[in-house]
Amino acid sequence: MAVLKEQITVLGATGSIGVNTLDVLARHSEKYQIFALTAHQNLQRLKEQCLKFKPRYAVITDSQKAELLAEVLASHQLETQVLSSAEDLAMVASHAQVDTVMAAIVGAAGLLPTLAAVKAGKKVLLANKEALVMSGAIFMQAVKASGATLLPIDSEHNAIFQCLPEHFVTRGIQSCGIENIVLTGSGGPFLEKPLEEFAAITPDEACAHPNWDMGRKISVDSATMMNKGLELIEACWLFDVEPADIEVVLHPQSIIHSMVRYQDGSVLAQMGNPDMRTPIAHALAFPERIEAGVAPLDFMQISQLSFDRPCFERYPCLQLASQAMIQGGNMPATLNAANEVAVEAFLNEQIAFTQISQVIQQVLSQTDYAEVADLQAVLVADAAARQMAQQVISNK
Ligand code: NAD
Ligand code: MG
Repeated sequence: MAVLKEQITVLGATGSIGVNTLDVLARHSEKYQIFALTAHQNLQRLKEQCLKFKPRYAVITDSQKAELLAEVLASHQLETQVLSSAEDLAMVASHAQVDTVMAAIVGAAGLLPTLAAVKAGKKVLLANKEALVMSGAIFMQAVKASGATLLPIDSEHNAIFQCLPEHFVTRGIQSCGIENIVLTGSGGPFLEKPLEEFAAITPDEACAHPNWDMGRKISVDSATMMNKGLELIEACWLFDVEPADIEVVLHPQSIIHSMVRYQDGSVLAQMGNPDMRTPIAHALAFPERIEAGVAPLDFMQISQLSFDRPCFERYPCLQLASQAMIQGGNMPATLNAANEVAVEAFLNEQIAFTQISQVIQQVLSQTDYAEVADLQAVLVADAAARQMAQQVISNK
């Protein structure tokens, strides 16, 4: 009898997380089948992925490219249906035949399809941290209401998840004897760079992360440590804790991916080489374990692990994110949108590296606090912050 394979949709298949996900899936083709792959611009890579994995659907959010892709796939006698609208993204994330969705679109663009997967009660592997940062309470309520299984892909949150006791989900941090969560971060490429040289940092320098090979947006976020700020917010929602329950620690080697400190003095850490295939494989197979193609950790080669306190003068974005989470309401969505616009402007060489945090700070200070009762309010906050950030940039 044929064994039913787990049906997977990969949102953002052509990105760094998407490619790593397909690498793990290809190692276990007896267990997993690709239902749908999605991309934004990278037609060539999506075409290659379709030829290899033969999904039922491919979504490319550019209608001209969708036409081209449909022609090429048909010429290879592939039955993959090619689609291109935002509704199509949500459809392949929530389709009745899909078991698991890898949410790996970058930025706010991932919010609606990721939420569609959550509302449909799927097993959702969450890489797209911006979706949770923007809509925290609404997102987590939707998870509860639908009974979706939410598993973190961000290496830190996946590590924390692995270090928490099983009964954490029902009992929460207080009654599990947990002291706090230690969120580790490498500090990015500019850990040692003199502050007076920051203004001249180029996009390529900012994207050259010492330990991780990632998309350009998250690479810049790592360099400013906004990534750690977004992760702090992400951790608050995922594990139902406050910023005060989280200690951010610099750990330049990226071997310990985060830790949980218990009241009895124990500290549990999850370690491994910096390779996203570990958290991807962990979440895919959970609660089982599968091989991920990751090189074994060689302690003799590492020889030393070091730790330090992050300095807000070097990483102002970290502080802005923490403050936005404490303020709550529309502030995290505002922070996220202003950051996305500022990072893009930096990548397009419109603003300097040091202006990223200035733009975000100006947008936050010009924004009045508002409750976000529903998704519409999140989208309004996002749009307003984008407009304001553009304005601030054009005045610079
Ligand atoms: P990436 O830029 O390499 O890939 C992004 C993917 O999203 C691509 O497939 C792209 O086609 C798609 N996309 C971009 N804009 C889109 C739009 N407007 N509509 C639809 N699709 C769109 O990014 P990445 O590094 O793979 O990161 C993806 C997500 O995972 C981000 O939220 C990031 O923060 C998170 N994450 C990444 C890593 C990593 O190691 N790369 C680690 C932890 C978390
Ligand atoms: Mg991370």
